[in-house]
Amino acid sequence: MTPQTDPRAGAAVKAADRAHVFHSWSAQDLIDPLAVAGAEGSYFWDYEGKRYLDLTSGLVYTNIGYQHPKVVAAIQEQAARLTTFAPAFAVESRSEAARLIAERTPGDLDKIFFTNGGADAVEHAIRMARLHTGRPKVLSAYRSYHGGTQQAVNLTGDPRRWPSDSGSAGVVRFWAPYLYRSRFYAETEEQECARALEHLETTIAFEGPATIAAIILETVPGTAGIMVPPPGYLAGVREICDKYGIVFVLDEVMAGFGRTGEWFAADLFGVVPDLMTFAKGVNSGYVPLGGVAISGAIAETFGKRAYPGGLTYSGHPLACAAAVATINVMAEEGVVENARNLGASVVEPGLRELAERHPSVGEVRGVGMFWALELVKNRETREPLVPYNASGEANAPMAAFAAAAKQAGVWPFVNMNRTHFVPPLNTGEAELKEGLAALDAALTAADAHT
Ligand code: PMP
Repeated sequence: MTPQTDPRAGAAVKAADRAHVFHSWSAQDLIDPLAVAGAEGSYFWDYEGKRYLDLTSGLVYTNIGYQHPKVVAAIQEQAARLTTFAPAFAVESRSEAARLIAERTPGDLDKIFFTNGGADAVEHAIRMARLHTGRPKVLSAYRSYHGGTQQAVNLTGDPRRWPSDSGSAGVVRFWAPYLYRSRFYAETEEQECARALEHLETTIAFEGPATIAAIILETVPGTAGIMVPPPGYLAGVREICDKYGIVFVLDEVMAGFGRTGEWFAADLFGVVPDLMTFAKGVNSGYVPLGGVAISGAIAETFGKRAYPGGLTYSGHPLACAAAVATINVMAEEGVVENARNLGASVVEPGLRELAERHPSVGEVRGVGMFWALELVKNRETREPLVPYNASGEANAPMAAFAAAAKQAGVWPFVNMNRTHFVPPLNTGEAELKEGLAALDAALTAADAHT
């Protein structure tokens, strides 16, 4: 579809938005959301006819891009046949989606509990772990994101909080590996891994292992900075969980469904958790869907005794039809392989080449189609280009970077002092190169602040 120019329609959309839409994660009076007229593949456009290459995949979820015709058709067919049906019934698109997901999840994660998105998947995974173990506490990492609902946002270890934000009972945080800003004074991945595991085990000892239901980690932390864990870390956490009878929850809401170049990021590390959350890429977010993949042992806890939880729209037929179509498209069109291959042959070398020329790039890290550039004022001291949680004038360098990227025709993901390169997984080589060229221009704007 070609962009149409219709500024008057855009202005009306914007006016109603500004009058009535309360936006997430935003100071309502300080934002200026773009009015989007349409989208296709890896691009979207506004009412002025300006097109952007989407380096964000929405909120890292449109893994097969916008408006894939096969998924749109599957949604239309399901809507015509059976738009909705309550969760307590066996429905074709629901059972087929569960089968396709269970076939791809690692180990014996063969039972699928469907939710409406990622945060509620995390909520249910934690509840299952507590009921299964009979223990109250959950350990989660600083520099993590697990969702915006009460429990999930309190598991989330990032500084976006008001003082009046009460924590959740039973949540204990720990530091996970992040070599570039090591909490453990580590200089090598081996040291970082060993010391992070030692820190985790000490935390468990001081909390009391018999009080801990679960450890939750993003397999590759996403929103907080795409920190690919060092080899051996997740296997080490798995061992610790086994030693103390703790449920290991991997949150694959962002990293799952091909983002890392594997169906699940757990496959990169050969680790099998007890519970695995997913959402986003499961159906590219065409209709809201998430879920928890459950191991045999945990499923058994709820074999003869009811799991006391659920959602009206659990396994919504329309969302599940979109999941079936998306997973089939990913398999037929080699989308996961594309993420792995072009990630390694185009994205990684392209970003490393940019880092060589731009002093504002402190570190390049990632895997598959899941990359972060950490921007700094000074490469030697690693001082971030903007302070954590910066706003207004303090955030001007990142704002300049984002404005230059948009000017150059890409929509960048920007969080604190980082930009993430996370386009749809089926983005082609020429488009990826176009994205890298636009970043080149945007990084020049960031360099001015080093
Ligand atoms: N977990 C992770 C790892 C995520 O990245 C996100 C969303 N960014 C969530 C959970 C929450 O998902 P949702 O926004 O669908 O509730």
